[in-house]
Amino acid sequence: MLSSRLFWKVFAVYAVLTLVAATVLVAVLSSRQRDIVIQRVEQRLHDSAVLLRDDMSDVFQHGPGADLQATLKRLGEQTGTRMTLVADDGTVLGDSIEAPAVMENHRNREELLQARTNEFGVSQRPSPTLGIPMMYVALRVGQRESPAGFARVAMPLESVHAQVTSVRRLILVTAFLVSLVALTLTCIVVGRIIQPLATLTQAAKAIADGDIQQEVDVRSRDELGTLAESFNLMSRQLSSRINELDQKGREFAENNARLEAVLGGMIEGLVAVDGGERILFANRAAHALLEFATRDFAGRPIWEAVRNPKIQGVVRKALEIRPHERIELELPRTQSIVQLSATRLPGDPCPGVILVLYDVTELRRLENIRQQFVSNVSHELKTPLTSIKAYTETLLGGAIDDPDHNREFLRRIEEQAERLHSLILDLLRLARIESGEDAFVLATVSLGELVDSCAEEHAGNAESKQLTLQTQPAPSAVNVLADAEGLRTILDNLIENAINYTPAGGQVRIRWYAEEFMASLEVTDTGVGIAAEHQSRIFERFYRVDQARSRELGGTGLGLSIVKHLAREFGGSIEVASQLGKGSTFTVRLPLA
Ligand code: ADP
Repeated sequence: MLSSRLFWKVFAVYAVLTLVAATVLVAVLSSRQRDIVIQRVEQRLHDSAVLLRDDMSDVFQHGPGADLQATLKRLGEQTGTRMTLVADDGTVLGDSIEAPAVMENHRNREELLQARTNEFGVSQRPSPTLGIPMMYVALRVGQRESPAGFARVAMPLESVHAQVTSVRRLILVTAFLVSLVALTLTCIVVGRIIQPLATLTQAAKAIADGDIQQEVDVRSRDELGTLAESFNLMSRQLSSRINELDQKGREFAENNARLEAVLGGMIEGLVAVDGGERILFANRAAHALLEFATRDFAGRPIWEAVRNPKIQGVVRKALEIRPHERIELELPRTQSIVQLSATRLPGDPCPGVILVLYDVTELRRLENIRQQFVSNVSHELKTPLTSIKAYTETLLGGAIDDPDHNREFLRRIEEQAERLHSLILDLLRLARIESGEDAFVLATVSLGELVDSCAEEHAGNAESKQLTLQTQPAPSAVNVLADAEGLRTILDNLIENAINYTPAGGQVRIRWYAEEFMASLEVTDTGVGIAAEHQSRIFERFYRVDQARSRELGGTGLGLSIVKHLAREFGGSIEVASQLGKGSTFTVRLPLA
């Protein structure tokens, strides 16, 4: 409490008031008391002078007797005063202290001058005879017109002053004690008022600092008590409200986190823009798609964060003209195609726009592939069908009766039908692999056994084309994890291609060996080879380096595509190394069993 400024302020006011009151009281009482003492002394001197005048009236009529000095001395000692009898002309007739003979004429003494006119005179001044300050009271003896003399009684002012000083000291001590008591009481009373206020202040401060649960213990029936009660009630209500708010805040934060997780996990990009075109929120996908110019994009205008006039145009249109706006645009930096839809949020003034971005790059690419595939398939089917139709029409047109050619035509029809058949089979196989319908049973397959059996199968073909078909086994048995039938298709295709694209006298070699985790299976030929620009594309569907030659050889253009898909299905890969005119090596890598 002693640290309370209010306490000291109130206490200081009361203390000053008390001290001022005490000082004024002391001053008034002192002066009054001095007046009273002087009055009393004056009265006493007056009474003594009256007695002296009455007692000594003979002296004024008959002159001073021999014992006058002794009488005056005795009276003076008895009354504690100095008594003087002065004749009308100022001559001292008798004095209780000095011998009249040595005393000068008193005619002009102030008290005597007053008494001459008013019967009574009083003065305070130093005595020329004794040399000390005295109070003199003089009474005229006789009538004003013919006074007989004066009776004068005096007293040293020293004793008057002593009386005044002692009473003043008493007043001062009393005033001091009263002030002390008053100040102590003030301290207690002010303290009683300030204490609850200090408690309330402290509690209010604690609330302001975040410690909401505050109860003050002020038991008083006055306004302070009511204030404390109201404060406690307010604190309780505040605490429960803040608890509610905390709860709501937690729920809000949880919802926010959930929403942010949902929005963050969305594949679609989402950007919220306010009415002033400033970015409020953007999820990860939007960030990746739009590649914001700045990391700190929140609160920035969209035109500053995304430097794309089309996006800015859509936002502006959605804000000002149409509530829904949709465009498709290509982002040059990422080279992705994005479908952007902007929806104006309801409200007036418009609170903003939500932008949703769909990355349709893959979709468009697949659409493209599909279109190309459909046109390729149509084209591939059309060629043999056109031939079949032409031969059939020729036969029907009469060639059937031409014994020299009819068989040849029928053989050609059969050949084309066979091509159609293998084309459709390849298409079906590819479709099955791609759709994942063919659930491959991965098992341990011995590469040595598989290669031997395939090589044996193609040996006749190779021989007829005057090619050497060699196998180069690994030093020890190599087992891979694959589907046996699928692996056979891979090897058949590679060996078939090697035989097909290698001129007579060439060589086809099959080699296999184990590495750390993978097994490698190589089919090498000394054939025509593949130019570098085609090497990456030969695994695409229907891609052929030489269309005419492939068709002539009965190829569908799907073989390597099937090989690539199968290798992937088994967790492996395929690559080619080739030199135009020198030959090619196809390497399939498969996981070891
Ligand atoms: P195709 O049925 O035409 O053989 P593939 O998908 O098996 O279809 O092969 C695609 C193309 O790759 C072939 O048309 C051919 O031009 C080229 N090719 C494949 N294997 C070889 C090879 N061993 N030597 C040279 N070119 C090859």
